[in-house]
Amino acid sequence: MPATAATDAVVGPIALLGAPGAGKGTQAKLIVHRYGIPQISTGDILRDNVARGTELGKQARVVMERGELVSDQLVSGMVADRLAQKDCERGYILDGFPRTVAQAEWLDKYLDSRTFGRRKLPPVVINIQVGYNQLLQRLTGRRSCPACGRIYNVYSQPPRVDHVCDVEGASLIQRKDDKEEVISERLKEYERRTLPLVEYYRRQGRLHEVNGELPANQVTEQILKLIERPAVQAGSND
Ligand SMILES: [Zn+2]
Repeated sequence: MPATAATDAVVGPIALLGAPGAGKGTQAKLIVHRYGIPQISTGDILRDNVARGTELGKQARVVMERGELVSDQLVSGMVADRLAQKDCERGYILDGFPRTVAQAEWLDKYLDSRTFGRRKLPPVVINIQVGYNQLLQRLTGRRSCPACGRIYNVYSQPPRVDHVCDVEGASLIQRKDDKEEVISERLKEYERRTLPLVEYYRRQGRLHEVNGELPANQVTEQILKLIERPAVQAGSND
């Protein structure tokens, strides 16, 4: 645990869902910092397995070299290896996993065979909700500095002087990926891909929704309340 963690509570698995621009990354970082638990990103795991040449990594490499998507089974296998590591003992944040209903079902089965401090803990699934127009505004407002790479947002984090980087005064640019047509496609694609997963958890009454349009610190507050579920507080009520 990093020395900076505010608590060494057992929090168990947390899955954050949210569209691009919903603030998932910001919130994940805060949770990592507060609890001293790792953020598990399937992208990182995949790259790591390929780089280390593990058995699953070799299989994944072959699939990717054919330009195909890595199967749920391969991804889940790599996630299982990662979650078995010591730093995951008190909990972790899942980032980009589960992505499909099949992965969500696998995760439920997997967690049913594991314990956190002698307790079985299902994932706390949190959906950070931000309306379409708000997302569009956040994402199309992004400007970056070609000199130092600093990111601004003309709506929420403007530079001190319009169009100019605070650091060295370079003219800010809007990347192609941040233009409205591209963003709008990305948001629709996210919605389409994620809906079955959201429905899977919602049907079972396991989807927690937080209002992501509130200021970031209030979003954090809502999330912390969900994470610090009564069952895991201080490990007192066995
Ligand atoms: Zn700059």
